[in-house]
Amino acid sequence: MIEFRDVHKSFGDLEVLKGINLKIEKGQVVTLIGPSGSGKSTILRCMNLLERPTSGTVLIEGTDITEPKTDIQAIRKNIGMVFQHFNLFPHMTVMENMTYAPMKVNKVEKSAAEAKAMELLKLVGLTEKADAYPGKLSGGQKQRIAIARALAMEPQIMLFDEPTSALDPEMVKEVLEVIKNLAHTGITMALVTHEMGFAREVADRICFIDGGYILEDSTPEEFFANPKTDRAKSFLEKVL
Ligand code: ADP
Ligand code: MG
Repeated sequence: MIEFRDVHKSFGDLEVLKGINLKIEKGQVVTLIGPSGSGKSTILRCMNLLERPTSGTVLIEGTDITEPKTDIQAIRKNIGMVFQHFNLFPHMTVMENMTYAPMKVNKVEKSAAEAKAMELLKLVGLTEKADAYPGKLSGGQKQRIAIARALAMEPQIMLFDEPTSALDPEMVKEVLEVIKNLAHTGITMALVTHEMGFAREVADRICFIDGGYILEDSTPEEFFANPKTDRAKSFLEKVL
């Protein structure tokens, strides 16, 4: 579903990704972990070309999205992204936030878009907030809406970049619960997180990133019990 072949990315003189090779199969849940500044967000952002690799190839369902002739908007429709900060449209209600892109981009009828939105609000436990404005929601509620809004486009891929890092501790769980329920429903997920317990529980694979490389790519059991590199060992000592 997602494949990186020798992806490099530089910002000016700073080479942030130094040759990333990665293959994520359909329906897999892959967690990227590693120190701050190691390139995790950049990897995620290369998956939908929010960042363009300096060299190398990124394939989404076999399509090379780094090819200039690829219709990246068409690819992006199929990739939902949830950020640390929720990026809801503040002047729109929850319902409007959720139906805007499906109606505008996918040309879904208003009634169908609203029905789908209600179904997703039920999934994230917030049906009573349909008419609320984002400003009236807690951080955890905003993030659950952001996830539901991404799902309204019926993407095959969901990218999460530290979805709980900006939340107060008591709200982390409700958001992780939503993501957990989404995992292994067939949707392909790449997730950057510092929640090690969550990564261990939910991920099929853990990729440990440091210094612009994937230093380890293994199952959670293997990674947490027997990290192979000293860098991963010292990272885990700090965060566990
Ligand atoms: P992580 O998500 O692992 O914390 P990032 O992928 O955000 O790391 O960033 C990796 C490195 O690239 C950092 O040193 C960061 O400062 C740098 N970087 C990220 N985005 C940009 C950008 N748009 N311009 C310049 N430098 C950037
Ligand atoms: Mg980041």
